[in-house]
Amino acid sequence: MIKKTIAAIVLTACMSLTAHVAHADPLSYARYDQVRTTDLYLDLKADFSHKILSGYAELTLNWIDKSARTLVLDTNELNIAKVQVLAANGRWTAASFMLDKPDAEKGRALRIALPFQPQKVRVYYRTAPSAAALQWLTPEQTLSGKRPFMFSQSEEINARSWAPVQDTPAVRFTYSARIEAPAGMRVVMSAENDQKATGAGGWKFKMTQPIPSYLLAIAIGEIDVRNVGPRSAVYAEPQRIEAAAAEMADTEKMIAAAEGLYGPYRWDRYDMIVLPPSFPIGGMENPRMTFVTPTMIAGDKSLVDLIAHELAHSWSGNLVTNASWKHFWLNEGFTTYVTTRIVEKLYGEEVAEMNLQVEQEEALASLAKIPAAKQALVTRDPDTNAATYTDSNLVYPKGAWLLRTLEQRAGRDVFDPFLRGWFDQHAFQSATTDEFVAYLKKNLLDAHPEIMSQSELDEWLYGPGIPASAKRAASPRLAALDTQRAAWLKGELPTAELPAKNWIALEWMHFLNDIDGKATAAQLQELDQAYGLGKTGNNEIAYRFFLASVHAGYNVREPLNKFLMSVGRQKFVVPLYTALLKNPVEKDWAKGVYAKARSHYHPVTQASVDKAFKKQ
Ligand SMILES: [Zn+2]
Repeated sequence: MIKKTIAAIVLTACMSLTAHVAHADPLSYARYDQVRTTDLYLDLKADFSHKILSGYAELTLNWIDKSARTLVLDTNELNIAKVQVLAANGRWTAASFMLDKPDAEKGRALRIALPFQPQKVRVYYRTAPSAAALQWLTPEQTLSGKRPFMFSQSEEINARSWAPVQDTPAVRFTYSARIEAPAGMRVVMSAENDQKATGAGGWKFKMTQPIPSYLLAIAIGEIDVRNVGPRSAVYAEPQRIEAAAAEMADTEKMIAAAEGLYGPYRWDRYDMIVLPPSFPIGGMENPRMTFVTPTMIAGDKSLVDLIAHELAHSWSGNLVTNASWKHFWLNEGFTTYVTTRIVEKLYGEEVAEMNLQVEQEEALASLAKIPAAKQALVTRDPDTNAATYTDSNLVYPKGAWLLRTLEQRAGRDVFDPFLRGWFDQHAFQSATTDEFVAYLKKNLLDAHPEIMSQSELDEWLYGPGIPASAKRAASPRLAALDTQRAAWLKGELPTAELPAKNWIALEWMHFLNDIDGKATAAQLQELDQAYGLGKTGNNEIAYRFFLASVHAGYNVREPLNKFLMSVGRQKFVVPLYTALLKNPVEKDWAKGVYAKARSHYHPVTQASVDKAFKKQ
């Protein structure tokens, strides 16, 4: 009998869940089927000595379910002081609230009990020094060493660690803010930034285009600004501003190229901020203010495809947003495809083809490390359990490969307007894979069924790996390089005779990817002596050279130490520590380096490297 009772309870629970499951995001507690945030105002003070933001958030609400009397917001480590609601008489009155028990991944639901459905709610709070989205740097961790620095990284679900919000990409809202910061520092946000502002009375921001919470962004520090185009500026620490401005000189050309393909840029300005080295990722497409790693400053614009990627998000991701993180490929696969199109317009077909080939080869190589069940673009499971989500790295090249396949078969005359139509018709909305499939059928496949069968489409979306029908990019320049590389590995072509002086960064990346695990320590030493790879300013090349050297047993401790002490990007440091730990000669040395470097890394990077150390 007990069994039956439990089964009945589970069934009831499931049924009440399915009642609002149509757009349920398992990573959020918000009941956005009942109420939606339409606007957010943040009034916060940054306290660098305690590493906290404190103040209040004011949410404007649109009630959909007229019987609802609870507002549920996502929070993570927020200390809530009080909650107020705006009464009909215009007065703010106290509302009672409770915080659920913390969940390790999702944080705590803030449940606000409401006597009526207020239009506005204020939550007074402060963040924790360990807030997942915020990194507080000491002056020593900046270039000038004079002032501290703070920046946010809200994607995917960390906005809730610095603001109580409906933290799901399914909800969009406009926002404004007033931020107080210590004198001598500048505040920037993913909003309108006034270059002439002084911060007197607080730094003020306004974002008039509705965004999902993961695009809320803030940075505070000793920050300079230089215009690099009619609607673009670059922000950076004063010591880096000149180099950053020079590297970003092609930004306006990039915006124009993207507009030529997918229609007007809809966010007015495209500014960028180059963050200190501990920024854990390459770039973050915060609208109006892309956040980028300083590792993209190579000195020769060889890594600006990173900017092309973040700019591409102005259409794919920021304008048309995945409705939950299950549909991440709609953000990143589309963006990866658009990036190559922008690169082609700016740097020509040959460079774009090389870019694509390297991307596809790295995707195929990564398959060996990803369980088959995680290799789909999207899981067929109902969107109620984030643990079933697919591999978030693979969706970038695999999603792009699906779009490339459709483009190759449809022809650009048909495919380009098709893709532009997707962005236009879903602008400032969130979308699911099913919505894309419906759009694909209606606007492409119904009229041209020969382009892709249902079973092939299903294979792309729900199957493992890359379908055998996929065409691989083949760059003639990389093919020539392959012949030389094979001869060099066999010792038939001397290092001095490699035509490497003329190689662009992509050719080096391809070469180093292919010799990793094959070249000997002596061969790597020769390469290093001939081309100064240990000293290259291009971090993508340096990373691949160090990885191949550690695998081969070529001693690169001196430049690698410098690299690991000054670069905090996860993509580079996690594989490098992993390789060092596998090498008995380097293991203890790696421990010593990490002991010193750890405090320079972002908490996200620290957690990943800690995990690599624990595995050993
Ligand atoms: Zn991206």
